[in-house]
Amino acid sequence: MSSADTIAAIATAPGRGGIGVIRLSGDDLAPLALALCGKTPAPRHAALADFRAADGSLIDSGLLLHFPAPNSFTGEDVLELHGHGGPVVLQLLLARCLDLGARLAEPGEFSRRAFLNGKIDLAQAEAIADLIDAATASAARSAARSLHGEFSRAIHGLTDELTQLRMLVEASLDFPDEDIDFIEAADAFGRLEKLRRELAGIFARAGQGRLLQSGLNVVLAGQPNVGKSSLLNCLAGEERAIVTAIAGTTRDALHSTIQIEGIPLHIIDTAGLRDTEDEVERLGIARSWREIARADALLLLVDARDGVAAADREILARLPAGLARITIYNKIDLAGRPPERHDEHDEHGNAVAISLSARTRQGIELLRAELLRIAGWQQSEDVFIARERHLRALTQAGQHIEAARATIETCPPALELFAEELRLAQHSLGEITGEFTADDLLGVIFSRFCIGK
Ligand code: GDP
Repeated sequence: MSSADTIAAIATAPGRGGIGVIRLSGDDLAPLALALCGKTPAPRHAALADFRAADGSLIDSGLLLHFPAPNSFTGEDVLELHGHGGPVVLQLLLARCLDLGARLAEPGEFSRRAFLNGKIDLAQAEAIADLIDAATASAARSAARSLHGEFSRAIHGLTDELTQLRMLVEASLDFPDEDIDFIEAADAFGRLEKLRRELAGIFARAGQGRLLQSGLNVVLAGQPNVGKSSLLNCLAGEERAIVTAIAGTTRDALHSTIQIEGIPLHIIDTAGLRDTEDEVERLGIARSWREIARADALLLLVDARDGVAAADREILARLPAGLARITIYNKIDLAGRPPERHDEHDEHGNAVAISLSARTRQGIELLRAELLRIAGWQQSEDVFIARERHLRALTQAGQHIEAARATIETCPPALELFAEELRLAQHSLGEITGEFTADDLLGVIFSRFCIGK
């Protein structure tokens, strides 16, 4: 009944490797396997096979695996060809599959089919991409948990409780005289309170997961030679930027990702952010300003012996309002000052001031703790990897639950509105797992996957 066209893609990363895998998914792939290898593979058994061109010449030898529908990743017929991991041989093999009627898979198309065929829900599909993209071990662990269905199960638990309450209220709608009895009999307030608590718990776990998934964007600014590269190296714990004593070495925005407690910290080390005639440098500076507009925090680094320079003040004056700011007084080893943290107020607003030395590492812990505080991180083991859209849906569900409560606090209670708010709350939760998700959103989600996944 279905008429899925056959898709094919190289599933392993580009470049040379011990093995390379081509994956195909479609309606009935036995004929394709027969044409390619001269044999029909036994389901779910690895078989040694010769992959041959149309003229019978050998392209490669390797393993052939067949996962007949519906017991496969996509729910369709899936073939895997495990050949040698060279870019040319894999391209030849892929071209042969295309000749045999397959077409190139789009990014995320295998996962999209798995979702559409009910093999995984949307939150799990997103967790696949998050697992592949995980920048830290903690992010990978929590993505694996979401992929395994922990996040989805928590959401389904809430949905089940909403469904029960909806059934009770909808049954009582036919008996308008018993509105108040219903609220007591069904313990409507008690159930709403329980839902609210559970939702808050899930929100907290997902909020931490979003941090692990997307991390914190931190801009590192300061005059040449104050120690930006040194600080970056010190935080990263390894050489990532060139440290030199020559002013203006860090000419272009430099991105690096380090981690603190498993949270990716995307650090944008800015070019000097100063007026310049140099066209290349100007472009770098314009880009830095665009990055600052999107950042979560700004670290302004100054030399503890000089304090905040006039040029730094110009930068502060241009900062977006509300951007978290840490002023770091570096080189305390030369200034003869102890490491410390204190709050600072100036005409540009509030900042936290931290005195440290990127050379001796004194005070670095204060900075790490401050970054974690800005991120809103709490150490916890049971984090779900989550995205902004999940948090939005959870917030909406919470708002509908609050609105539902308001409808039964009136006398007489507005039970029809109550039922409607519960339905809307359920709908919001359904957006997370993909029960109610618009096609265009699916397009956006899956287009960010890699090809072959
Ligand atoms: P950038 O231009 O802001 O990136 O500055 P660099 O990181 O290249 O540092 C400029 C110079 O200051 C280098 O010679 C560093 O070794 C030195 N430096 C950086 N941080 C410290 C520090 O905390 N103490 C001392 N004594 N020297 C530092």
